Amino acid sequence: MLACFLDAPKKVRVKDVPIPNLTPGDILVRMEASGICGTDLEKIEGQLGPGGILGHEVSGTIERVAKDVTRYKPGDRVVAHHHVPCYQCVDCSRGDFTLCTEFKETNIDPCGFAEYFRVPQYNVARGAVIPLPPELSFEEGAMIEPTACCIRAVRRAHVQEADNVLVVGLGPTGLTQIQLLRHATTGKIIGSDIIDARLKLGEKLGADETINALTEDVPAHVRKVTGEGIDLAIVSTGNEKALNQAFSSVRKGGRILLFGAPSREASYQLNVSDLFTRQITLLSSYSCVEAEMEEAIRLVSKKELDLKSLISNRFKLRDSEKAMEFAKTSKTAIKTIIVP
Ligand SMILES: [Zn+2]
Ligand SMILES: [Zn+2]
Repeated sequence: MLACFLDAPKKVRVKDVPIPNLTPGDILVRMEASGICGTDLEKIEGQLGPGGILGHEVSGTIERVAKDVTRYKPGDRVVAHHHVPCYQCVDCSRGDFTLCTEFKETNIDPCGFAEYFRVPQYNVARGAVIPLPPELSFEEGAMIEPTACCIRAVRRAHVQEADNVLVVGLGPTGLTQIQLLRHATTGKIIGSDIIDARLKLGEKLGADETINALTEDVPAHVRKVTGEGIDLAIVSTGNEKALNQAFSSVRKGGRILLFGAPSREASYQLNVSDLFTRQITLLSSYSCVEAEMEEAIRLVSKKELDLKSLISNRFKLRDSEKAMEFAKTSKTAIKTIIVP
């Protein structure tokens, strides 16, 4: 079968490899759609440390199950989550599942950009293979993991009913957060980005205002709209410079939530006195777990979330190299999906 690997920094290669063998408790899934995540691109650039497994936003059809697996059968349409917490340790008991030391220990095999991938027993046993209802397409299925990450983030931000919110970065996750926020607040939702196509889509999906950060002063515009500044700023890009927009836009007593994965060693010069005197809360949110994946599926099923509009481009698995390059450099792409 074909699968896409990171051979060395910046060296993506599609190779012919054996279909994984199953050990007890495992499931083999035939990939139907697999989203390219910003973190895949950061991995390729070597910004998240050496190596790494590509592709984790996956949906597919179960091809085979190990003899002892009874909850699933070949032909089932599913989404699979690559990381799973233990649900037993002290972090898990606090509900901090994505801090669990087991969380990143397992993964799908060999990766998500593969014709077939094995979901290990550890993941299967903890509910990380989730049925995809018939009303959801496989491509929507591939969007469930990033959507679930957004659900977790918005929940961690404790959005109040009339909060004004700024979303910095309108990639697929920023655009999903705008939709989630639309259900959570009656306040103003403002989005900022440097690509006009994304701003336009942001308005279509629920933002009251969008701002091109290349041509406009985002904090000034935010203050014009909200008066005292924004209640909550969500930073949905891995570029740490975007924190400037958040810090300068937030009102005193406001919250900033860091969502986009910064590159390794990224640092930021913080005005600590300003943070202290203006009593700003700084939060972060990383990844998601099965409960949020299930919530994401429910919201898409109820048509409260539009994921289809976010999918802009498709590439065949054998063209993965081209797909990664496209996703990195395109000025029009929102979500790029790999299909078999
Ligand atoms: Zn991702
Ligand atoms: Zn745990």
